[in-house]
Amino acid sequence: MARIGFIGLGNMGGGMAANLAKAGHDVRAFDLSQDALDRAKAAGCLPAASAAEAVTDAEFVVTMLPAGKHVRAVYEGEVFGAVPGTALLLDCSTIDVASARAVGAAAQAKGLAMVDAPVSGGIAAANGGTLTFMVGGSAEHFGRAQPILERMGKAVIHAGPLGSGQAAKICNNMLLGATMVATCEAFVMAQKLGLDPQTFFDISSKASGQSWSMTSYCPLPGVGPQTPADNGYQGGFASALMLKDLKLAVEAAQGVDAAVPMGAAAGALYQAFVNAGNGVLDFSGIIRMLAGADGRE
Ligand code: NAD
Repeated sequence: MARIGFIGLGNMGGGMAANLAKAGHDVRAFDLSQDALDRAKAAGCLPAASAAEAVTDAEFVVTMLPAGKHVRAVYEGEVFGAVPGTALLLDCSTIDVASARAVGAAAQAKGLAMVDAPVSGGIAAANGGTLTFMVGGSAEHFGRAQPILERMGKAVIHAGPLGSGQAAKICNNMLLGATMVATCEAFVMAQKLGLDPQTFFDISSKASGQSWSMTSYCPLPGVGPQTPADNGYQGGFASALMLKDLKLAVEAAQGVDAAVPMGAAAGALYQAFVNAGNGVLDFSGIIRMLAGADGRE
């Protein structure tokens, strides 16, 4: 079993670190929050007093932090100076491609191996060990990361060289944001045109308008499978996180001169929805705003 330094024990990282400990790994965990550290200890991890202490004799380092600036601060300020030269670094946070590549290049310059390995799946998947990992890095580093990631997820996919995991994640989530908005507006319009929502679902889910947003995550309560819509849009994937991913997508698109008018439009709509106080609501809740409600409960 491996010695793993785990930094960032929040909504996602808490469950992921617990799954590594449950699998028998020696997990030295650190977070700025004492509550998060206490929960990690109860789940079988060994709390550390700092990020540097968590990685001192680690074979693997896993980070699950909010954004690029936190990832840069933790690696450049603490991890690089304390971790053994043989360790493999795995950043599972969702961050901008430029930060992922910059931290990876800094690791490389110090002779350290690193992969970016962002996840698809929310808190339930983190707790249940059923995340999907999109991994950027060399084939050799991917091979070393795989057995560790498999303890936290159901699928581990090699996306390409360093930074490709983040690229895959934001392209996927941009597509998801745009199809969710499109699905919501189609349901609202169908109802205004006098169609029964269930009938529209039965037709469109078998016709060319079909998408994951419709068939697996239908934004209307009582239609299709059980989704956050059936629970007042509580739980699921928070609109604030969808907005974060859409901003990262548009920023990355500008960096490579890619045209993303649909992604940008979805971003503007989620910005308005979040500004109206709906950041914690599931991202399918945007149907309320499109239906003409003020977007609040
Ligand atoms: P979170 O805010 O719940 O957790 C982040 C943790 O990092 C916090 O506990 C915070 O105290 C800790 N932290 C911040 N700076 C630190 C530092 N310098 N040293 C140590 N700890 C530090 O966030 P989350 O929901 O767990 O998300 C983590 C990442 O996963 C984000 O990049 C997010 O975009 C991504 N993600 C989240 C979800 C989701 O559904 N929540 C799904 C997929 C991906």
